[in-house]
Amino acid sequence: MARVVVLGGGLGGMAAAARLAKLKHQVTLVERSGTLGGALLPVRRDGFNWETVDLTLLPGALRDLFRKSGRPLEAELDLRHRPILREHRFPDGSALALPGSSRAAQLAAAEALGPGLGRAYVDHVATYTEAWETLRRHVFEAPAADPLPREVAAVMQSRETLHRRLRRSFADRRLRTVAAHPFVLDGHDPRQVPAWAGLTGYLEQRFGGWVAGADDATGPGLGTLLADALTRRLTTRRVEVLTGVEARDLVTRSGRVAAVSTTAGDLDADAVVVAIDPRLLPALAGPLRRSLPATPPTVLHLGLRQDPAARAALPVLEHETVLHGESASFTIRHGGQAPAGATAWTVLVRGKVVEDPVVAMARLGVDVRPHLQTRLDLTPRELVHRWHGSPLGVEWRGRGTAAGRVGPRTPIPGVFAAGASATSGTGLPFVALSAAVVAQLIGPA
Ligand SMILES: Cc1cc2nc3c(=O)[nH]c(=O)nc-3n(C[C@H](O)[C@H](O)[C@H](O)COP(=O)(O)OP(=O)(O)OC[C@H]3O[C@@H](n4cnc5c(N)ncnc54)[C@H](O)[C@@H]3O)c2cc1C
Repeated sequence: MARVVVLGGGLGGMAAAARLAKLKHQVTLVERSGTLGGALLPVRRDGFNWETVDLTLLPGALRDLFRKSGRPLEAELDLRHRPILREHRFPDGSALALPGSSRAAQLAAAEALGPGLGRAYVDHVATYTEAWETLRRHVFEAPAADPLPREVAAVMQSRETLHRRLRRSFADRRLRTVAAHPFVLDGHDPRQVPAWAGLTGYLEQRFGGWVAGADDATGPGLGTLLADALTRRLTTRRVEVLTGVEARDLVTRSGRVAAVSTTAGDLDADAVVVAIDPRLLPALAGPLRRSLPATPPTVLHLGLRQDPAARAALPVLEHETVLHGESASFTIRHGGQAPAGATAWTVLVRGKVVEDPVVAMARLGVDVRPHLQTRLDLTPRELVHRWHGSPLGVEWRGRGTAAGRVGPRTPIPGVFAAGASATSGTGLPFVALSAAVVAQLIGPA
């Protein structure tokens, strides 16, 4: 049995710890805050619990995690398919409610924007079929070989950017906006994102979006339920969890990792899984100097209550609605616990906003001002401070981005990396897959 120390108690760290404990390692997880979950956790204030995470693509990644670490996911939480991924509302007054899991439904929805646009959208998505199959097998579900197999290198080292691919696929600006949205929302400039990363659109079409919790999103949602289920899983697997302890650096002996230096003293380790931003650890930071974390959006948590005296009722929106303005977008998500009669919305703001975002939203047709009971605005800086890093991983900076990222292997023998900073995919599925790959590399005890 090897002693494995896992750094970080977000999804990446918890997933790696649960898998490695099931493989019979003696696992200690170190989390600097007082609670496990990282960015999965809701924000609490004035009786509201706002969920930050909304849905997951590729539910198989979470199912695999639960199956390989004990009882199946279905025994812990119910994932439900959400037919509409999000509604986009454009400045010209048109709108597209984008369905998931169905090529035919996407074709029909985009065709309603204009003749030929449905075909253009599904043809664009189809360009990713092969890239996904290749990268899934060789990169996302198994440790990549070094050097990369020829077909993988052909995809990953192409010079084509997402921006260029979208210009080739779509004459219609609205479809370019729709296909670029997941990247813009995650803090990237499509001119710096490689074209292959757009396979997110393929995952949306093929596997759809999945949520957890009550249908009307008034109770705990996917983030909270997943954090709770994984916390229980760590207890079942007898993972030693040290909360309130911060990892400071890695200690090496004879060229291999021997311990982790923490605020609670050194922890001996035969292997270490870094599921935090590796630039926080001086032993790994050097070569990563030139990379930057992807900047989180400005986040508004709004507590709303229908004001009967107001001239207009509280707008009824899809679970996720994106208001596209000329220079900014507002992604509105419903979700979280609220006092009786109230509702919790979270708004993720991207772009240039020189006025109060709530006023800008009103200008774009969603006026919540008469119904506002409470609000909490969080700047990107406050969020990075709160999470001690960016749960959105490394900012895309063209092909050179790979040099600014470590994982699943690192330059130090015995040290592996999982989580948002260690994967070139985005969101929960890729974080979960990164932990699976690290568990494969470390192997059974
Ligand atoms: C606003 C927003 C909305 C999102 N919505 C979605 C969504 O709808 N769907 C989706 O799939 N993804 C979403 N994501 C992305 C998703 O939240 C992340 O991919 C995922 O939670 C990252 O998990 P992680 O474990 O890598 O990082 P984190 O959750 O950031 O966990 C890292 C943990 O490490 C701890 N830590 C940091 N430094 C140290 C240290 N030195 N020592 C010990 N512990 C340390 C932190 O306290 C934290 O608990 C969203 C992200 C954001 C920011």
